[in-house]
Amino acid sequence: MTDLTKLTLTEAREALLTKKCSAVELTQSFIARMEKHRDLNAYITETPEIALDQAKESDKRIASNQARPMEGLPLGIKDLFCTKNIRTTAGSKILSNFVPKYESTVSQNLLDAGAVFLGKTNMDEFAMGSANLTSAFGPVISPWKRKNNPNKQLVPGGSSGGSAAAVAARLALATTASDTGGSIRQPAAFTGLVGIKPTYGLCSRYGMVAFASSLDQAGPLTHTVKDAALMLQNMASHDEKDATSLKANIPDYLANISPVVKGLKVGIAKEYMENLDDETQALLQKGIDWLIEAGATIHHVSLKTTPYALPTYYIIAPAEASSNLARYDGVRYGVRVNGKTLDELYENTRREGFGEEVRRRIMIGTYVLSAGYYDAYYLKAQKVRKLITQDFENTFKEVDVILTPTTPSAAFAIDEKPSDPVKMYLNDIFTVTVNLAGLPAISIPSSLNQEGLPLGLQIIGPHLSEQLLFNVAAAIEEAADFATQIKSL
Ligand code: GLN
Repeated sequence: MTDLTKLTLTEAREALLTKKCSAVELTQSFIARMEKHRDLNAYITETPEIALDQAKESDKRIASNQARPMEGLPLGIKDLFCTKNIRTTAGSKILSNFVPKYESTVSQNLLDAGAVFLGKTNMDEFAMGSANLTSAFGPVISPWKRKNNPNKQLVPGGSSGGSAAAVAARLALATTASDTGGSIRQPAAFTGLVGIKPTYGLCSRYGMVAFASSLDQAGPLTHTVKDAALMLQNMASHDEKDATSLKANIPDYLANISPVVKGLKVGIAKEYMENLDDETQALLQKGIDWLIEAGATIHHVSLKTTPYALPTYYIIAPAEASSNLARYDGVRYGVRVNGKTLDELYENTRREGFGEEVRRRIMIGTYVLSAGYYDAYYLKAQKVRKLITQDFENTFKEVDVILTPTTPSAAFAIDEKPSDPVKMYLNDIFTVTVNLAGLPAISIPSSLNQEGLPLGLQIIGPHLSEQLLFNVAAAIEEAADFATQIKSL
């Protein structure tokens, strides 16, 4: 076999099981490519020795017919999943020396399935961001380039930008990621990948560095829908160590994928159509046409609370973050900057250890939770959140899934970053509602814009409709034929 890094996750699994290559060869190919593309800054910590040891063990198991479901498959792990004895930074200076003594449930599940870990992928600090520009370890650069201006460095999206760049540049077969308001789906759209945010509670949050606990959810970034199904079924599990973990049956999504949408009722929400630019409008229309062609019916629905989703998110997420991040005080974890008094030690540590965006969120969060403002902001936001959830529940009485664009635009350049943080927040306008309602949603690469950059479509479904989402996504994947479009690039 020539270039093993060109395989998809499911193809690589097949190649290993039919002995077309060994896990060590596969792992070595990825390690060599990671070294060659360090300029993308996709990994914070590379673990080639660990990966090779795991691959050797996988080869033994394959040889003795004891292969586990993901035996010998090299992955990247977002640096927000605690990995035992491997540094875990969450993209922050404050955790730059943190080596966990335990493994997150999601990464443990993947290890138990036989996966090989190439390293920890770069991310926005504490998963706060939409462009991977807030990492204390520097920005991640997308492997994608504009056709007419290949010198501009583009963002891979965020916060899982390292995970996205790693898969898009073939520095891992697939990666884990996390999504609090869009951080799996938005980078997936920006880099031409499939990304699914599962139902809240499907993947355990145990050992994931917390951002906003009621919104955080793990999921995969992959090249194909099949790959996403294989990853998710090996990441998800009921976990007693996470009080919000669901006791859901995790089916064999991969074996059950069927790209048949005949008779499926697809909702198009009026509120998601407003103010779309021409490119995004055309993308949505393509999605509609593909689904009609495949036998689905389109229904116009209204999700009236949509305009309130972003403001609600930017109260709830910082509120929870300010509480979650209180633990980083220089005493128990990570970096410490001394002071004359204990208060000074706290202040110096947090001032030095946290970046600008994280400090902004802590201040907003502390403000909206403070005695005088709790009712006006936090409590109000919780009420609106309930209305957003009900809006979806009512809509899912009429339709099976909802189709939207994933992002309002294609990837922007690093030097085009909006100076106003609120403009940056608008990147997640189509994704945050889903987290507020705890629903699953998938982004599928669907077309290339005029500049040759990927655009993604999002399918939102009711609670625990992951199989349905994979099926609809597979239908769109077939119609869009994105893989063929990018082969010549
Ligand atoms: N971009 C959003 C934020 O900065 C979402 C991040 C995420 O999903 N982790 O909060």
